[in-house]
Amino acid sequence: MTPDLQAEKAEVRQYFETTGFERWNRIYSDSEEVNKVQRNIRIGHQKTVDEVLDWLQEQGNLEARSFCDAGCGVGSLSIPLAGLGAASVDASDLSAAMVAEASRRAEAAGIPKERLRLGVSDLESLAGRYDTVICLDVFIHYPQEAAEAMVRHLAGMAERHLIVSFAPFTPLLALLKQIGQLFPGPSRTTRAYTLREAGIVAAAAEAGFTPVRRSLNQAPFYYSRLIDFERRDG
Ligand code: SAH
Repeated sequence: MTPDLQAEKAEVRQYFETTGFERWNRIYSDSEEVNKVQRNIRIGHQKTVDEVLDWLQEQGNLEARSFCDAGCGVGSLSIPLAGLGAASVDASDLSAAMVAEASRRAEAAGIPKERLRLGVSDLESLAGRYDTVICLDVFIHYPQEAAEAMVRHLAGMAERHLIVSFAPFTPLLALLKQIGQLFPGPSRTTRAYTLREAGIVAAAAEAGFTPVRRSLNQAPFYYSRLIDFERRDG
């Protein structure tokens, strides 16, 4: 990782320990204290989470599968996934504040600790082998090349499925962003990167994965491509 990216990651961590935590903890909740933009982001993000849960349930056999939720935030995916009976979920996030909140929510939801293990970690430090690795709406903090490297890293940890979501680069969004009309991203205080889908798919292919399902989840101020990759090299 270049010094620039290191510095940026330190900023992202600092943000999600403080103001970003306040903001995103509210967005990813049912609190009434959200503005219209935040409410829309909440709706869009929930579509992504619900879709992943649907896909996983359709694939079935949750009781026998192990999951890694990389950059888990406050546990929006991991908690319901563990609640649905997933054998084991390892969830981690760069921000200790987000992980503490995830832990509080998991306890409130009555999730057994042995089924959902929470830890503070950045994506780069993750290791291990899982049936399925999932990384939702984290790549907004990664420029193209770093995101592609991360896709290869996460794919190396996945035995069967890799599910990722990211804000796709589109010429229209780029234009809107330029003229400051719309900023598809978690905050105005951290940089937000949109990614070229072809590069993400190529990175997964290099790691032996092929896309088997795709969707685009949208709400005003939320725009997220979701892809389920499957290992094709046995
Ligand atoms: N995946 C969760 C959270 C998305 S918000 C969900 O969909 O609900 C983005 C999260 O990514 C934040 O919690 C932030 O702390 C985390 N994050 C950002 N950069 C990260 C990194 N390099 N490693 C791990 N987590 C990171």
